[in-house]
Amino acid sequence: MKLIRFKTSKLSPRFGWVYQDLIGEIDGTPYGDFRRFDPEHQLTSVKILPPCVPSKIICVGRNFTDHARESGVEVANIPLLFLKPPSSLIGTGDPIILPPQSQIVEHEAELAVVIKQEARWIEAEKAMDYVLGFSIANDVTARDLQRRDNQWTRGKGFDTFCPLGPWIETEFDPSDALITCHVDDELRQMASTRDMVFTVQQIIAFISSVMTLMPGDIILTGTPAGVGQLIAGNTVSIRIEGIGSLINPVVATSSPYADV
Ligand code: MG
Repeated sequence: MKLIRFKTSKLSPRFGWVYQDLIGEIDGTPYGDFRRFDPEHQLTSVKILPPCVPSKIICVGRNFTDHARESGVEVANIPLLFLKPPSSLIGTGDPIILPPQSQIVEHEAELAVVIKQEARWIEAEKAMDYVLGFSIANDVTARDLQRRDNQWTRGKGFDTFCPLGPWIETEFDPSDALITCHVDDELRQMASTRDMVFTVQQIIAFISSVMTLMPGDIILTGTPAGVGQLIAGNTVSIRIEGIGSLINPVVATSSPYADV
């Protein structure tokens, strides 16, 4: 099932489920019991929102050997974690806004995990019981600021730097799915999730040994090789086999201040 969040001029933000090119509303939340109503809204006639509202977005760095190599670093022997703020979330179709503080903003195509229920000290073998489903994320990164700062909060944390969507696929096997990223017509990234250093299950076990995962929390599982620069006017399309496509235009902005 595909779970989506949307709003219209008359309807406040809410969850729905997708049937072909239609959305049906649901009664309840995807984190508990819910009932599906008949699909009645055209996908093209609603505003699609990021598919969940997380308390936190936890990311894994360098989880593909070839990306670690192109970054000139070693793969860690435990997952390397960092956070993106929930304020960085946008949905499919929303613009990625290039901040005036950075000259090098890059895309990172990633598989996203959405947590279903509170999770702490979860064993890898039981991790999938805590997963609502999977989505597509772009871990947009101001590479020059990431390198300049000793940690990654600024380089990873700008508003619009976490496109997520278009929906949550609840029936998805993360063991061997193809991830591709196109910028306009150019293929930039292509890899299978089977090439991850740490599996989704191992990542959930590791994170839940550090912090309590809450319903709606999002885990970004790392990007394969091929990250590259985005400039104003580009369109980024990330596709994951079995989920769908996340598509975002890139726009420039200028600072409201003379110098930042
Ligand atoms: Mg990343």
